Amino acid sequence: MKSVTAANAVGSGAGMRREFEDRNDLVTYLREQFPFAVTVDEAVAPPHGGRKAAEELLATIDPIAYAATRNQLNGAVTRLSPYLRHGVVSLAEVRDAALRKGRSAQAAGRLITELGWRDYFQRIYALLGEQVWRSQEGLRTGWSAGDYREELPNDIASGTTGLACIDAFSQELRSSGYLHNHARMWLAAYVVHFRRVRWQAGARWFLTHLLDGDPASNNLSWQWVASTFSHKPYIFNRENLEKYTEGRYCRRCPLKGRCVFEGSYEALEQRLFPHQREQVELPAAGPLRADSPAEKPAPLPERPVVWVHGDNLNPHSHALAQSGGAAAIWVWDDILLERARISLKRIVFLYECLLELPVTIRRGEVAAEVIAFAAQQAADGVLTAASPSPGFDRQRRRIERSLPVTVLAEAPFVAAPAGLDLRRFSRYWRRVERSALALTPRSAALW
Ligand SMILES: Cc1cc2nc3c(=O)[nH]c(=O)nc-3n(C[C@H](O)[C@H](O)[C@H](O)COP(=O)(O)OP(=O)(O)OC[C@H]3O[C@@H](n4cnc5c(N)ncnc54)[C@H](O)[C@@H]3O)c2cc1C
Repeated sequence: MKSVTAANAVGSGAGMRREFEDRNDLVTYLREQFPFAVTVDEAVAPPHGGRKAAEELLATIDPIAYAATRNQLNGAVTRLSPYLRHGVVSLAEVRDAALRKGRSAQAAGRLITELGWRDYFQRIYALLGEQVWRSQEGLRTGWSAGDYREELPNDIASGTTGLACIDAFSQELRSSGYLHNHARMWLAAYVVHFRRVRWQAGARWFLTHLLDGDPASNNLSWQWVASTFSHKPYIFNRENLEKYTEGRYCRRCPLKGRCVFEGSYEALEQRLFPHQREQVELPAAGPLRADSPAEKPAPLPERPVVWVHGDNLNPHSHALAQSGGAAAIWVWDDILLERARISLKRIVFLYECLLELPVTIRRGEVAAEVIAFAAQQAADGVLTAASPSPGFDRQRRRIERSLPVTVLAEAPFVAAPAGLDLRRFSRYWRRVERSALALTPRSAALW
């Protein structure tokens, strides 16, 4: 087996703190350590990171109330997204909890279908990688890409448009790192269609703030709104917003009765997309075929270290469980954090997740730190959790120049046939629905 020595490994060797008196102490430390994140946005969001908080939330889900109220802003949604995003809990685990609570697949079906959207987007991410930043299909708005502004206007980012709803969503995004799905759709439609800003600018803004910020779910949802990953642009009118918010914004809006959302869908379409009728019908987009399932993982190293990353922060992950108590490492990638303008609240959430894991916390160049850590532990290989992220793949390949890396996947959410067509959710769902609505087979479960 290949192994690295301390002499050929380059890493900082300096661990970050793990002991804190309370959240304030942690936040003070992180403000000092990540000053750039404070300049992006210094808010700290209420949800705490970590498995304990995720399990408490999971215990409160109500699939029946969810099905009846999920579109309402105050509906019984789960708020599990930051934990699902970072693999603190798995989709299979939430599905199983929903089936047990809902008592039947039919009662739990609505929530499970929404979990399916996450699985669907992750599968597309595995296929497209960085291409999720590019429009997947032509715009169906009658406008061309050059008609859209490059940058997010400041009045949207700062919540000073004068529209009570939009300004409240902007403020909530920045302060809580969360928005209800409907609010995300309205805000995205406002940015892209009412202000004609490129969807990528809005997507970047969301990823800065959302605790569940995920390049796949986020960018493909923005594209769904924009019409570059759907058959038509998504828009809404004031009546729609008023209905699902029980009028809470319109009641106090200085622009009530004369806002840009006023009017029928037909009138709004004519105003927003005056050239849509002249647009040449775009050819139907061809299939988007999923890759074949991954091969069986390589044999486990005899003396591994575990590389923990942001797509799996579950203390019961296969990688941690199968390592036999091996030392584990997490590395903050400062360059990535700065480039993506990640705000302080996201860092606090992730750090809290890490504090529940038996992991050494470092910062620097990820692969170099993992290799140096492995050398210090006299390891002969690295164990890690699977991820569809192209960034993960780049780091994995760098580590493999020095050490073998074994990638372990968690229990899949659905049994997906090879070559599954991912062009539209409906095509995916038709093929996987039956397995999605069944309990995770014991043989595949985590525990
Ligand atoms: C413009 C836009 C951007 C978005 N960006 C993200 C993002 O960065 N990260 C993210 O996780 N979700 C994103 N979503 C999807 C969705 O809005 C959130 O997952 C959901 O609102 C999270 O709240 P919840 O946990 O209470 O969801 P619930 O309604 O309780 O749903 C349970 C879980 O199912 C999954 N889910 C539900 N709806 C969707 C959906 N439409 N797409 C993908 N997964 C879904 C999530 O993991 C969610 O936690 C975005 C949607 C839009 C319209």
